[in-house]
Amino acid sequence: MLSVTFLGTSAARPTVERNVSALSLQREGETLLFECGEGTQRQMMRYGVSFALAEIFFTHFHADHFLGVIGLVRTLGLQDRTEPLRLYGPRGAKKLLEQAIALGVERVPFPVEIAEVKPGTVLGERGKGNGEGYEIAVFATEHGGSSVGYAVREHERRGRFDPDKARAAGIPEGPLWGKLTKGEPIELPDGRRLTADGFVGPRRPGRLVVITGDTRPCASVVDAAQGADLLIHEATFGEEEKDRAKETGHSTAKEAAQVALAAKAKKLVLSHVSARYSISAEELVKEAREVFANVAVAKDGMTVDVPFDG
Ligand SMILES: [Zn+2]
Ligand SMILES: [Zn+2]
Repeated sequence: MLSVTFLGTSAARPTVERNVSALSLQREGETLLFECGEGTQRQMMRYGVSFALAEIFFTHFHADHFLGVIGLVRTLGLQDRTEPLRLYGPRGAKKLLEQAIALGVERVPFPVEIAEVKPGTVLGERGKGNGEGYEIAVFATEHGGSSVGYAVREHERRGRFDPDKARAAGIPEGPLWGKLTKGEPIELPDGRRLTADGFVGPRRPGRLVVITGDTRPCASVVDAAQGADLLIHEATFGEEEKDRAKETGHSTAKEAAQVALAAKAKKLVLSHVSARYSISAEELVKEAREVFANVAVAKDGMTVDVPFDG
């Protein structure tokens, strides 16, 4: 299972319909939080996102992307949390987040570790289970300063087990099939030893989810999002305000669609929309769809499942 839940989809300030930036990614029982705008903890409650999370990733430190960490850390403390919380963000994260989490509390009763990341950083060897984990690659974005985006990339999966071939080879259904499915060698009751080769197909690609945070359309995002199953790109403005998008380091919906097209992404979801699109963002979808067909605009509380492709 891999899914993303949008907790806040408004740019710069909250509106009645939309809170400021945050989204959670759920994978195999694990929850990761990306951005934590003001009020994110309440959005998590509303939309049933677990507080038992270990990590929060920040793309940059504009107020609408991180102020919520102050209240969230306090609440986690009141819940008698003892497990460490790890925070990741670009240059400046240590100083800024240390100040933020110390604000308004005597003492945080659990360890908070802050790690600074930069384009090229790969947080590898992640995920539970046997050999099919994932990594998070940090890439550059263009939003002034040291902003970054995150690419959540699953490792290749084992090939598909072929029961017909197993039957034809006289391997009895049961635990031996299970071993072959996992790629392990087996020994048959008649003494034959077989490896899994030939009984499982070629390895299959894992899924890729890319989260840009605030950015101009840029080549580093296109590179990071190559073949992405899901690209979550900001689209603060419509075409009407394309000059403003340029001046403020943001993207239009059409520009986000051009990035998705260049990256050959499979699905594009637009987020971080200006307050004028708070009630209806159909105009943004329409502009984007002229360039890239499989596009939707996020809403607070919306969950997007990311299925395996084949
Ligand atoms: Zn923003
Ligand atoms: Zn920003």
